[in-house]
Amino acid sequence: MTQAPKYKRILLKLSGEALMGREDYGIDPKVIGALAEEIIEVSRSGVEVGIVIGGGNIFRGAGLAASGIDRVTGDHMGMLATVMNALAMADAIEKRGAYARVLSAIQIHDVCEDYIRRRAIRHIEKGRIALFAAGTGNPFFTTDSAAALRAVEIGADLLLKATKVDGVYDADPAKHPGAKRYERLTYDEVIERKLAVMDTAAIALCRDHHMPLRIYNMVEPGNLGRLMHGEDIGTLVDAE
Ligand code: UDP
Repeated sequence: MTQAPKYKRILLKLSGEALMGREDYGIDPKVIGALAEEIIEVSRSGVEVGIVIGGGNIFRGAGLAASGIDRVTGDHMGMLATVMNALAMADAIEKRGAYARVLSAIQIHDVCEDYIRRRAIRHIEKGRIALFAAGTGNPFFTTDSAAALRAVEIGADLLLKATKVDGVYDADPAKHPGAKRYERLTYDEVIERKLAVMDTAAIALCRDHHMPLRIYNMVEPGNLGRLMHGEDIGTLVDAE
């Protein structure tokens, strides 16, 4: 791609489930490798990239609480799961010849760096792919909220949420073949219509800080690069 990318700095949110591929637990190395390649291509085209990874492929606090584990402990386990995913993604990126850094909201000095905003910005300015792990560092939040928070903190131009469907629909497209995809929505429409985009805290943070959010299909190869060059893929959520 010769044309300059449309965005200077992005924050990409990958759910833990995105790393599972067709497995029902853990990480599929093929899937993580393919994602790493797309991310590296975008980074090499000059876009500064921060990533927040979820942990739902390993542990979720709410699920653990339902099986009897204390909720806060479960959330700690969920946050640590995101650290494992971030380490795996950093490894996949570095194996392919690019530079990655894991910055965790929970201190684990033997394993990765602490999340320090200025350091995070320095990494991405140098072209390193920064992986923000351990969510917000607090229980009762999600990695969607962490993604909105980090996007605002690092001054991203765009928050991207990678999913397995083509965007936001008015009904579940897997169950309703006639479901219609929205091309654009406002933050308030997402909240009022209770659309399953991101949790309300994440959407409200985006709204209050004018952070545009795009939901796109990461299963389709090349979508991330196309988006960076201005193609109107998926669903855009912004003010008007
Ligand atoms: N989590 C948390 N605080 C945060 C982010 C995550 O406690 O700021 C915990 C929570 O238990 C959550 C789990 O980590 O269920 C994994 O994150 P999430 O469910 O957002 O992952 P995803 O659905 O994106 O895979």
